[in-house]
Amino acid sequence: PARVGILTSGGDSQGMNAAVRAVVRTTLTLGGEAFAVHEGWAGAVAGGAQIRQLGWDDVAGVLHRGGTVLGTARCAEFRDRAGRRAAAGNLVRRGIDRLVVIGGDGSLRGAEELRREWPTLLDELVASGEVSGHDRLSHPRLRVAGLVGSIDNDMAGTEMTIGADSALHRICAALDGLRSTAASHQRTFVVEVMGRHCGYLALMAAVAGGADAALVPEAPPAEGWQDLLVRRLQASRAAGLRDLIVIVAEGAVDRLGRPVRSADVGTLLTERLGGEGSRVTVLGHVQRGGRPSAYDRWMPTLLGHAAAQEVLGDGDLPAVVVGVRSNRVTLTPLPEAVRAVDAVREAAEKGDFDVARAARGRSFAT
Ligand code: ATP
Repeated sequence: PARVGILTSGGDSQGMNAAVRAVVRTTLTLGGEAFAVHEGWAGAVAGGAQIRQLGWDDVAGVLHRGGTVLGTARCAEFRDRAGRRAAAGNLVRRGIDRLVVIGGDGSLRGAEELRREWPTLLDELVASGEVSGHDRLSHPRLRVAGLVGSIDNDMAGTEMTIGADSALHRICAALDGLRSTAASHQRTFVVEVMGRHCGYLALMAAVAGGADAALVPEAPPAEGWQDLLVRRLQASRAAGLRDLIVIVAEGAVDRLGRPVRSADVGTLLTERLGGEGSRVTVLGHVQRGGRPSAYDRWMPTLLGHAAAQEVLGDGDLPAVVVGVRSNRVTLTPLPEAVRAVDAVREAAEKGDFDVARAARGRSFAT
């Protein structure tokens, strides 16, 4: 039977387990065999007990659990060809030539590298006697499907990454919690949320949580933004609002590309707003923790199902990102998705935020 390896890599996120479960059970249903590769690419490089066959019951009771039951890691060795060579050897010796990788864009880039190099890596392994000629011939190519697991929602090829919805729930619960103490003291709360260079969590949390202002990387404020922010908050106070909340994305920058830090926004508001001043709350890793939302259970289940079907097919297809667009499961060639992400980053680094926004919009919407 065809053997499918499943791994979670990079930062963990809620909902990864739902994807793992769906990949395992779909694979078994379609007559294949499923293997866990533990601790991300590190498990592939190490081999041995880190690659373990999974049965139907091994993924029972994981749907509602946050994080990843397979373990995840960052693996420097896998960035080098020697590390990928070791991984290819460990996989092919176990008969695994199909992979479903659940991780961020780095993890998926690694998967594409491995897929491209697979034939030459195997030739080298045969030449050095580490892999048999039979193994080489019976596994001529690697089939790869990637699911984007990240709370940041920062990858092209899908409108929602696995975990982003649960993280939003967590942020909203925190904002609700802060509101009562903010109102009691007429304090302004500055709340820093995750998302790296992507403002999705900050913006959506601001809308869903009714924040008074949000600072996000995609819309860097112009010179003098501090005065504008203070004036707006003063107006809200004057109108009788007691609980003011400003959300700052961890990757927020100003028009010149300088970081806008939550601590500095807190100091600014304490100095300029008077009263009981402001407090800064950095939500941190709690955003990545806890149970997945309903969406982060059914969506990764559908994607995991599609990913297993995809890798169990035949032919020499490019690696794909299995994502969701307009509420439908969609496949995007992995290199295309990675290029779209690079375009956004390059434009943002050059300070070309209009292009960055447009590129992001295109990559998510088309
Ligand atoms: P997150 O969004 O949580 O950061 P990520 O998958 O982007 O997730 P990275 O640390 O970038 O996280 O990548 C995870 C692992 O994937 C790395 O430790 C490395 O093993 C592998 N990897 C990343 N980029 C590459 C690359 N260009 N080539 C080969 N392997 C890579």
